[in-house]
Amino acid sequence: MMDRDRRLKSLIETLDPETQAIRVGMERTGEREHSEPIYPTSSFVFSDAEIMADAFINDSGLSIYARVDNPTVDGFCRRLAVMENAEACEAAATGMGAILALLMAHCQAGDRVLMSTGVFGATLTLLKKFFVKYGIELTLVQTTDMGAWEQALQTPAKLAYCETPSNPTIEIVDIAALSLLCRAQDCLLVVDNCFMTPALQKPLDLGADIVIHSATKYLDGQGRVMGGAVLGRRELIEPVTAFIRSGGVTMSPFNAWVFLKGLETLELRMREHSKRALKLAQWLEQQPEVSHVNYAGLEDHPQAALIARQASGGGGVLSFELKDAGRSRAWSFLNGTCLMSLTANLGDVKTTVCHPATTTHGRLEQVDRDVMGIRESLIRISVGLESVSDVMTDCERGFKNLA
Ligand SMILES: *Cc1c(COP(=O)(O)O)cnc(C)c1O
Repeated sequence: MMDRDRRLKSLIETLDPETQAIRVGMERTGEREHSEPIYPTSSFVFSDAEIMADAFINDSGLSIYARVDNPTVDGFCRRLAVMENAEACEAAATGMGAILALLMAHCQAGDRVLMSTGVFGATLTLLKKFFVKYGIELTLVQTTDMGAWEQALQTPAKLAYCETPSNPTIEIVDIAALSLLCRAQDCLLVVDNCFMTPALQKPLDLGADIVIHSATKYLDGQGRVMGGAVLGRRELIEPVTAFIRSGGVTMSPFNAWVFLKGLETLELRMREHSKRALKLAQWLEQQPEVSHVNYAGLEDHPQAALIARQASGGGGVLSFELKDAGRSRAWSFLNGTCLMSLTANLGDVKTTVCHPATTTHGRLEQVDRDVMGIRESLIRISVGLESVSDVMTDCERGFKNLA
């Protein structure tokens, strides 16, 4: 490391978050590279047996094996931890890998997990199909109903898990209020911050204990690689790290490198995604074919005051209801469009569109879809960074195809 790097490191905590997202995380090697280095190696060598034993037995801090640690993955974790104001961060192979590791690390047979109804489809499936089998009890709680959360917490629960805004109906959980309820009952509050990202919302600052990320979405931002992360106080993250070491849902160094670079533009991208999504949401509200628009940036969102308190933008995802539509009309809309990518991913610079009831949430039981409010008439759009007027024109193509 050069003297300049040492001087910068000593004042890094005084820098603004946007600067930290670009400058924090990795140390320059002797090669004086400008961009962050990537370490595509499965294991690491030692100069002698004593140092090797120290690394294996006493956790001396030296890298051992890439399932356990890798400098590029560690760099991604340090950068994201600074952005989320977290003491510690652990990376995983995918967002679901992060959620799996969290649950494996913190739950045991007999524990009860509370989960908001508006969670990602695979998250609900992971609990309902697998964890319940091992003696974990699952209680679903209506996402926005604080009375229902309070009620559910009257019976001991290990953790309360929520996503806010929810996918795809954009319902909001009051993180600060829920964290007070959870703390009083000794229950950990976990927030999946995938939709807002730390650029717009910092759940730990609002009182959450743990933050989950699917890095696959906005942290990459260009739909290239998969990854996940778990963040929080050190004592809560250490068991997650221990599970990943043994469970093997490790993030690859190449993916970590892509995410490190993605984080550098996160603030900028999230601001632009929010701006464009708001424009599209306002325009959609005016269209005769649309009966309702769900977007966190709209003034008429039923929880607009709460959103203004806990987030600094609406993010890039919106959904809307087509008037008098069932499955075939919704599909006609999709089939009429051609600019928007017909794909399930979100958080990309490319605008994506999908029909949640028959794709992302298609494997759920009808009763779960009903509880989540995912109707056949619902369309989800993740607004990218193309010109928003081109996206509107594409929506018009979809509306024309309805006739
Ligand atoms: C995509 C997603 C996940 C799962 O992440 P993967 O990287 O696809 O495993 C979890 N939560 C939310 C909110 C998501 O959108």
